[in-house]
Order: sequence, then structure tokens, then C-alpha cells
Amino acid sequence: MRRVSILGATGSIGQSTIDLIARIPDEYDVVALTGSQNIPQLIKDAIALHAEIAVTSDPSKLDELRDGLAGSGVEAAAGDIALIEAAARPADWVMSAIVGAAGLAPGLEALKQGTTLALANKESLVTAGPLLMSEAKRLGATVLPVDSEHSAVFQALIGEDISAVERIVITASGGAFRDHPLDALDRVSVAEASNHPNWDMGQRITIDSSSMFNKAMELIETKEFFGVRADQIETIIHPESLIHALVGFNDGALMAHVGPPDMRHAIGFALNWPDRKHVPVERLDLAAIGQLNFRAPEAARYPALAIAQKVMEEGGLTGAVFNAAKEQALDAFLAGDCGFTDMARVVDRVVDVMLSREGLQNATITLDSVNQADSMARALAVEEIAKIES
Ligand code: NDP
Ligand code: MG
Repeated sequence: MRRVSILGATGSIGQSTIDLIARIPDEYDVVALTGSQNIPQLIKDAIALHAEIAVTSDPSKLDELRDGLAGSGVEAAAGDIALIEAAARPADWVMSAIVGAAGLAPGLEALKQGTTLALANKESLVTAGPLLMSEAKRLGATVLPVDSEHSAVFQALIGEDISAVERIVITASGGAFRDHPLDALDRVSVAEASNHPNWDMGQRITIDSSSMFNKAMELIETKEFFGVRADQIETIIHPESLIHALVGFNDGALMAHVGPPDMRHAIGFALNWPDRKHVPVERLDLAAIGQLNFRAPEAARYPALAIAQKVMEEGGLTGAVFNAAKEQALDAFLAGDCGFTDMARVVDRVVDVMLSREGLQNATITLDSVNQADSMARALAVEEIAKIES
């Protein structure tokens, strides 16, 4: 039996992970499941999977969780410290699928057991890539990418030498507004931005896909995870979302990973690694698909990509600042406090201001320094957003 924990179990990635585990319950011993607001789902899954413990990050939800689990034998706990303690429980495989910067500390804690960390939480790499990767190495833990593009790159690199890699091409669907009139982008609604052409995901990452902040995060993720240079990473719009990434080698060969847009593919790969086992995703009928399309991303439509280049070039804590400003700008867009195109302006401004003031590039990356940069960037983003309103 493999002991598994799922951090962010109630979310889109968490539920897809549970779907895979629940199909073969005899193979898995579920240790911890965590969530935040969706307590009914957390209770249901914790009981069905006989989890040791269920944790909500929100202390005000503890009574509801405790009541729902009464008599089931599943422990209940709440709050950030309880989350960290849950991540620290011995497990062979931990899914890191909390959304946002909140996923970093529990993921780092899970590494301390020398376990396998399946990393969906891209913010961990964006905010603290060098810390996460060096801690994994130091602690003898394995980090496996779950973001579909990075799982694709990882798979294309099996048996290859990273020094033979010339470039990594990350594909992007182009999001909800890839064909929207450019001059109307500032007026799009939250509902329109929450509609992804190909993938069914959580709302935050879906809006980040519309703005390409998701792709911006993924470029940084690529640099941090695979240790390549910023100038080796490219983005291409591929509207079908069937090729997830390509790796170009010294001899000109391009190795592509092709699969349906179903996150259970990448999750299943990480769950079964280093083996390949059956994963219940659609098998592609290439003749029925007929053709695959590609086009270059327009800089004016996707300003987030240029910001990502800056973040990768500057390094240090710039990623933590970028992510925090992006999360704050997204909160403001969701709350109706700023427009869609304001998000990139706010993030760019916060990154520039913090770079000019703080010497972010050379700072040591620790959980504390990341949290500090995060708080400062959020405060600055709030100021910038207030300027838009007035
Ligand atoms: P969701 O919003 O669907 O789920 C997020 C999970 O995190 C839920 O379990 C949620 O609990 C929990 N959560 C929310 N806030 C907090 C907090 N402050 N502290 C602890 N837990 C919290 O997100 P996704 O599943 O879409 O994404 C998860 C991560 O995976 C993100 O980093 C995303 O970028 C990444 N990812 C997602 C992909 C996808 O297809 N969805 C693809 C590639 C990467 P609750 O729901 O109970 O409130
Ligand atoms: Mg992705």
C-alpha cells in the first residue's frame, strides 16, 4: 500500500487525483486530505477514502468539519499550522494542489520526509524555485511536475541529457480571448474570462489563462524546474491544446508530448512514476483531429509574457513579487475593482517599483524572505489598484 496525501483535495486537481486513487483503493492508504471552504466535499472524500486526517485551512470551518466527521474515525483539524502538520505526516507521495502562494509552505514541509512531491502548485516554483529545488535535493526528495506542460517536458527528457537541450517550447491555448478584438479587452467580464476553450480548471487558473498570466507563470516554472536559461524557453499558441510542450535538442529534433486536455494524464504519470500504468484518459484519434495549428503569441494581447521575461532575467525574489502582485490583481478583477487589462499594468508596475527599491535580484530565498516580498508586493498592488479606481 502506498501512503498518499492530497493538499488541496477539494479543488480541480485534487478531485482529479481522487478520481484516479478511488478507482484502485486497494493500492492506496490515504493519509491527509486538505481543503479550505468546501467542507462537504472534504468530509465526503475523507470518509470514502478512510483518510487519517482532514484539514481545512479556515479555522472558522472546524466545527462544521468536526461534526461531519463525527464517528467516522477521521481526525479533523484547521488552520495553517494544522496544514503544515498534515503535510508532515509520513507519506510516500504527496500531491501539492493548493492554489496560490499558500501552497509553498506545506509543500516544503512535505519534502522533509524525503517523499515524492507531485507539484501542481506552480506558485511554489515561481515564488521560491531555487529554495524548493535545493531543499528537495538536500532532503533526498523527488519533485515531479504535474502542470501538463512541465510533465510533457519531463517525459520528453527521459533518457536525455539536459545539456543537449537547445530550447523548450511551451504551448498555450491562447485562452478565452485569443480572437477577441484587442480594443475591447479592457471591457471583458469575469464570467467571460472564466471560460477556457479546452481545459476544465479552477476559476483562478482559468482567468490566468485568459490573460496568459498562467503561461507567464509556466515560463518561470520551466526555468526553475529544468534549470534552463530564459532565452531557451519559447511560447507558441496552439489552439487545440493537444501538444502540451516540445523539447528541441542540439541536433534540431523536436520531441513533442501529445495527449488529450485532461489533467488526469499528468497526475496519473506522476502517480505511477517511474512506471507507466493505465490512465483512464481519452485515446486520441489523429485522423479525426485532422490538423494541429500554431501561431506566435501577440505581444500586445499578452503583456504577461514580457513581464515573465523580466522576472526570469532578474531572478531572486522577483518571482515572489510577481506572483503576489498577480494574485492581488486577480482578486481585484474578481471583486470588480479593476478591469481585465489593468491586471498586467498593475503587476508590471509593482515588479518595476520593487526592483528599483529592494535589490530583489540578489536576495537570499527563504520562506521568510519570500513571505516578506509577498506582503510588500501585495500592499503595493493595493495602492496601484486604488489609483486606477480614482
Ligand atoms: P482550485 O481553486 O480548483 O482548488 C484549490 C484548492 O486549494 C482547493 O482544495 C481549495 O480549497 C484549496 N485552498 C484555497 N485557498 C487555500 C488556502 N489559503 N490555504 C489552503 N488551501 C486553500 O485550484 P486548481 O485545482 O485549479 O489548482 C491548484 C493548483 O494547481 C494551482 O496552483 C494551479 O495553478 C495548479 N494547476 C492547476 C491545473 C488545473 O487543471 N486545474 C493545471 C495545472 C496547474 P476549497 O476548494 O475547499 O476552498
Ligand atoms: Mg499548464
